[in-house]
Formats: sequence, C-alpha cells, structure tokens
Amino acid sequence: MNALTNADLHCHSVVSDGTLTPEALAERAKANGVDLWALTDHDEIDGQARALAAARAQGMRYLTGTEISVTFANQTVHIVGLGFDAHNTALAEGLRRTRGGRRERALEMSDGLAKVGIHGAYEGALKYVGNPELISRTHFARFLVETGACKETAEVFRKYLTEGKPGYVPHRWARLQDAVQWVTEAGGMAVIAHPARYGFTPNEEYALFSEFKAHGGRGVEVVTGSHSSQDAVRYAETALEFELAASRGSDFHSPTESRIDLGTLPMLPGKLTPVWELLADRIQ
Ligand code: AMP
Ligand code: MN
Ligand code: MN
Ligand code: MN
Repeated sequence: MNALTNADLHCHSVVSDGTLTPEALAERAKANGVDLWALTDHDEIDGQARALAAARAQGMRYLTGTEISVTFANQTVHIVGLGFDAHNTALAEGLRRTRGGRRERALEMSDGLAKVGIHGAYEGALKYVGNPELISRTHFARFLVETGACKETAEVFRKYLTEGKPGYVPHRWARLQDAVQWVTEAGGMAVIAHPARYGFTPNEEYALFSEFKAHGGRGVEVVTGSHSSQDAVRYAETALEFELAASRGSDFHSPTESRIDLGTLPMLPGKLTPVWELLADRIQ
C-alpha cells in the first residue's frame, strides 16, 4: 500500500443513505480497480462485517469506516473514522446516541413539507430507508424526485432541504471532541470529511482544524467526490500546514445520483502522507 494505491475510503450503503448493499459496493469497487476500500455509513457501523467479508471475497484490502455527524460552530461537519475496532463498545454507543432523534427530526421535516403542499413525505421517505434508525434527508430527496416535485436530488436539497427551506429542521449532532475520541480510542484515525463543503469563514475553519488536531484528529480528505480540483490543491496545502495525513474517497451513494464512481478519483498529490500509510497495521 503506497501513494499509488487505488484507495477509496468513503462511500455509503443501504445501511445509511446509499442505494447499494455492501456486497454490491464491493463488487463495483473491485470492478473499478480499487485495492483498498472502506464503507463509511453515516453514524453507523452495522454494515462493517458484511463489507469486510465482501472485500475479502473480491480480493480487496479493507479498513473499517464510518462518517460521524458533528455540530461545530452551529454547522454540520462530518468526521470520517477509519481503521477502528468495530467491536469497541464506546464507539458503538456514541454512534447509537448520534443516530437518536433522526425519527423525530424526520417527522418535523415532513410537517414542514406538508405546509407547502407536499403530503405524506415521512411515509414516502421511509420506503427508501434500509435502516430504520437512519432516516436522512437523502431519503426525503428520493421521495420528492419520485413524486415529480423535483427532477433530481440536488434540486430537492436546493429547494426544500437546506437552511431556510420548508423541509429543513436544524439538528444537534455529536460534539467534535467526542467523535474524534470515539474513533481514536477504538484504535482508529479521525479524518475531516470534504472540508470544502462547509462554507466556514477562515476563522471558523482555522478553529475546526486546530480543535480537531488538539482532540487527536490526524487526517483530512483532500481528494473526494465533493471537491473540485482547486479544492484538492487548497486542502493539500491545509494538510501540510496542520501536519495531517491525507485521505481519498468518492463519497459514492448511488449509480444514478453520484457524480463520481468508486475508485475513479485522481491520485493524492505526491507530497502528502496518505492516511493508509499511518493505518498500515489496521488494514484487514
Ligand atoms: P442528513 O444526515 O439527514 O442531514 O443528510 C445528509 C446527506 O444528504 C449527506 O450525507 C448527503 O448524502 C446528502 N446531501 C447533502 N447535501 C446535498 C446536496 N446538496 N445534494 C445532494 N445530496 C446532498
Ligand atoms: Mn450521505
Ligand atoms: Mn458527508
Ligand atoms: Mn459521505
């Protein structure tokens, strides 16, 4: 495993808001040339045993993964955890608490949508949910595309599911220090997911990176399906500045919704330390 490894360390299955099973994702990753894979479902590690078995069946190396929802500076930040012990009870308990409240939030989202004439959204979204503890905005987006309210999920987010829009309900997720600690104490590495997506001011972003490091975080996604090539250049510099290892992951959710397929991203810039070099002894 080196800088030329085709590592894809960020994607979602039906255990959170992806549309493929862990087995179908593994098959697709392998077909696209992935050598090292991680399944990173939102706030959930229930798919890890299946993902590891599927990776083995495909002849791919595997790192355990999850993507934890965190509230920082009144915004949602995602922290990817990699290479942890999937049997760690504190991590499992922390994730269970982070998942809590999604049902109530979804009911409120549905009420908000009903006020603008979109009825039955909670029940509609549920049809797309694979894990009853993990109803997410993505499932609502799929339902609104099904009804014809919007042409594609990105449009649903723009018109209905982001701050100030009728189906948006603010939510308090895990604390940054807790998410980093759960992953680190379970033997894994915490990684800031897709930093270009947050829209922080420079001061807020500096606070995020420095607090993340102070709590024991060690990595940042540089090459991701959520970044432009300019974003990758920018966060390669940030990784060097904060002495963080760099990760690479498509954030693949679905063959019809995701712009970037598993294993098809550009390589990491050469001057960075890949997260998988520091996680060599955690690779299965
Ligand atoms: P939730 O955890 O319920 O707030 O849902 C967050 C998920 O919504 C993310 O993980 C993405 O999969 C999806 N998402 C967020 N923003 C967008 C967007 N603008 N377009 C498409 N999907 C999005
Ligand atoms: Mn998602
Ligand atoms: Mn994310
Ligand atoms: Mn993701």
